[in-house]
Amino acid sequence: MIYAANFKTNHTRQSTKEYLSKLELQLFKKKPEDKIYIFPPLTALGNFNSRNITLGVQNAYPVEKGAYTGEVGMEQLAELRVKAILIGHSERRDILGESQELVARKFAFFKKQGFEIIYCIGESLEIREQGIDAVMEHLLSQFEGIDITYKNLIVAYEPIWAIGTGRSATVEEITQTHNALKKVVDVPLLYGGSVKGANIDEISAIKSVDGVLVGGASLKTETFLELVFH
Ligand code: PEP
Repeated sequence: MIYAANFKTNHTRQSTKEYLSKLELQLFKKKPEDKIYIFPPLTALGNFNSRNITLGVQNAYPVEKGAYTGEVGMEQLAELRVKAILIGHSERRDILGESQELVARKFAFFKKQGFEIIYCIGESLEIREQGIDAVMEHLLSQFEGIDITYKNLIVAYEPIWAIGTGRSATVEEITQTHNALKKVVDVPLLYGGSVKGANIDEISAIKSVDGVLVGGASLKTETFLELVFH
């Protein structure tokens, strides 16, 4: 299983360091085949090395360097030795206004750099209520311009209505959607959306779920470890 933690705009450099040290102390117990990714805020990167944890960025701009006020590019990431990135998260698409064209440009750039890419897709509640065909049409449109054969690609299916709401998709909804996605993309497939200790058993038991991407329940080591050691 893959366990990926997205801190979003939470934690400081200091609290991330404490979190990672605490996590590292427990991870000797994890199954060797399990993989842990942590995406802290950018300011918290660069002061921790671990064999058990892959650190990544939640966002970056698809350039080496240049005049892009407020953004970081490859020159800055290389110094932090970061080689993993989240691309296409619904908060970046919907709150920060990232178009599919920009998302695809980011994907192509960081693919060229050999990054591990966790590429997020997901539908709104309005689309979900129209049924699985509408959901799949939307999800497949989010692969536009994306090389789904990229060897370092992980896809995260995250229904927007389940993110941060406490309401996870049901086992049936996840199973049906993941099975349909697996026919199109032959890469590890994560589920994200209100994953927590109370539902990790049933979600991880779904055959087409290769891991989880977690926001809220990843913010404390205790609740994240509940998932890793479920
Ligand atoms: C996310 O934003 O990637 C996410 C899955 O958040 P949460 O676990 O809080 O729903």
